[in-house]
Amino acid sequence: HHSERSTVWVGPPGGQVPVGPDAFTFIAGPCAVETADQTFEAARMAQSAGATILRGGAFKPRTSPYAFQGLGVAGLEILAGVREATGMPVVTEIVDARDVDVVAEHADMLQIGTRNMANFGLLQAVGGCGKPVLLKRGMTATIEEWLMAAEYIAQRGNLDVVLCERGIRTFEPATRNTLDISAIPVVQATSHLPIIVDPSHAAGRKDLVVPLSRAAIAVGADGVIVDVHPDPETALCDGPQALLGSDLRALAQAVRRLPGAV
Ligand code: PEP
Repeated sequence: HHSERSTVWVGPPGGQVPVGPDAFTFIAGPCAVETADQTFEAARMAQSAGATILRGGAFKPRTSPYAFQGLGVAGLEILAGVREATGMPVVTEIVDARDVDVVAEHADMLQIGTRNMANFGLLQAVGGCGKPVLLKRGMTATIEEWLMAAEYIAQRGNLDVVLCERGIRTFEPATRNTLDISAIPVVQATSHLPIIVDPSHAAGRKDLVVPLSRAAIAVGADGVIVDVHPDPETALCDGPQALLGSDLRALAQAVRRLPGAV
């Protein structure tokens, strides 16, 4: 518990991007790294729309074991190449504590996905990695459980934790998850940690990404993280929620309309 809200800095010295109360951070990129060309193109789209951090999954925890599981270390290498070319810091998911060193070597921020929010061994491992962590809310976790998961990371000495609301399981089938927009002010009332919103994984539908991003902005979130893909029809993962062209520009406009935005 702190009276002042924290800012977490993501990226190498000299190229750091703040995530916290003084800026609205726009993170975008492909759900999964599929090829170097696809990742470069998605990064170019993201950057030209104003995103300052690149997302992209190299290790993909999929519901089905038969679905594309990500390129693994080859995907991390692609991400590192795109980081080098664009200057954008990279956030990518880690699913296995044994991969902490290799992921931390290639990325600027380690993501804990919804399925691993309560994987305490993994949380402790990223607590010692020396890089900021993006901690997604478990899809069935209470806010209290989520904040305790953050404590597992902090307890190992890593205080650079950003929370991400990505929707919770409810009875409503119209969206893949229900974005719990109230979680943002509730967390901000009890925790100093920055909190961002993932409308792509919350909704699972691209038509809702811009409206839900606007809701995130209105309620005081510190940023959004969204999926983009140069050709969503052929995406190996979550194509229906990926933004393209005009959607991305509408989102960028909503972000630019923020007070204090450049
Ligand atoms: C992701 O961001 O790639 C992802 C799988 O998200 P979540 O863990 O929220 O489902």
